[in-house]
Amino acid sequence: MSETRILQKASLDPLLAKLAAAGNRVLAPVRSGERVEFEEVTTAAQVAADYVQTTRPAKTAVFPRYEQMLRFKIGGKDVAVEEVPAEAKPTVLFGLHPCDAASFATLKAVFTWDSGDAYFEPKLANTTVIGLSCTQGDDYCFCTSVGGGPGDTRGSDILLTPLDATKFLAEVLTEKGQALVKLAPELFAPANGPSEPGAQATGQKSAALAKIAPRFAADKLSSKLPALFPRGEVWLEQSLRCIGCGACAYVCPTCSCFDIQDERSRYAGVRLRCWDSCGFGLFTLHASGHNPRAKQSERWRQRVMHKFSYQPERLGVLGCVGCGRCSRACPVDMNLAQHVQSLAEIPV
Ligand code: SF4
Ligand code: SF4
Repeated sequence: MSETRILQKASLDPLLAKLAAAGNRVLAPVRSGERVEFEEVTTAAQVAADYVQTTRPAKTAVFPRYEQMLRFKIGGKDVAVEEVPAEAKPTVLFGLHPCDAASFATLKAVFTWDSGDAYFEPKLANTTVIGLSCTQGDDYCFCTSVGGGPGDTRGSDILLTPLDATKFLAEVLTEKGQALVKLAPELFAPANGPSEPGAQATGQKSAALAKIAPRFAADKLSSKLPALFPRGEVWLEQSLRCIGCGACAYVCPTCSCFDIQDERSRYAGVRLRCWDSCGFGLFTLHASGHNPRAKQSERWRQRVMHKFSYQPERLGVLGCVGCGRCSRACPVDMNLAQHVQSLAEIPV
């Protein structure tokens, strides 16, 4: 299915116009001060360049921080309930780095493992991903330790790689990607013309990519982790700094925990699905007062085990794409890559 094309950087504005004319909103990285976040854009000039990672992940397009599930009104003994259908605007996510694009497979595995999810699935079905290969990384990136890489095509419908200052290699990878190319075929030149030999273009792709050295082998770590449960001293030593703020989960592209809360006044209210985190003490607190993960070290262990052991074993996907956001965001410098690297080195 994959084919390679050339997209001129000067063609981005016409492409964005075509996407909008076809009824899509386009979300892309936009700089605001020191932060870069996914926002709606209409012109290429709004799209941030020269950054390593957005603060928050693109998953908000398919799994927002909160969303309404139903509304209710209370009148005497009567309660009128109105279901709120999922909002699933046709969306193009533009400029996702390969780690973010790969995270959609993890989210999909979680949200569809037993039955469909009425909120997640329509959004995913209406989302097309135009990824952007990474030409730079930082010390927090470890995609190559978890099966990814700066030019990884997984999760992208089209993957762009800057070949030089004027053009991208465009790998068209899926039917959604092909449908997008059909909106503006004149903008996507074949990469096998006399001036852009395909093999030469793909060779240039490798040369353009960031170099991210692998730090551990995720498959070996996954097979070792069951032997590190419970081993309380290991997890206590690792997590002494953790203050349970949950920032790591809120910036993570693969974290999928949520809770359901009713927000109400006396006569009306809404039921919301909201992000939650296994790093919070309240996350597992029972109504009885018992908390099966009462200590922060147990919650840190759960976070690591869930991502690197339970999910690969039960769903066949890692719960981490190595984006490094959790480590960049942590107020007490808990570095996930360093911690799992040290776990991988413990003799068991
Ligand atoms: S961001 Fe850091 S301190 Fe906060 S819960 Fe995560 S690991 Fe703990
Ligand atoms: S656990 Fe950290 S490095 Fe892994 S995907 Fe989540 S935010 Fe990125």
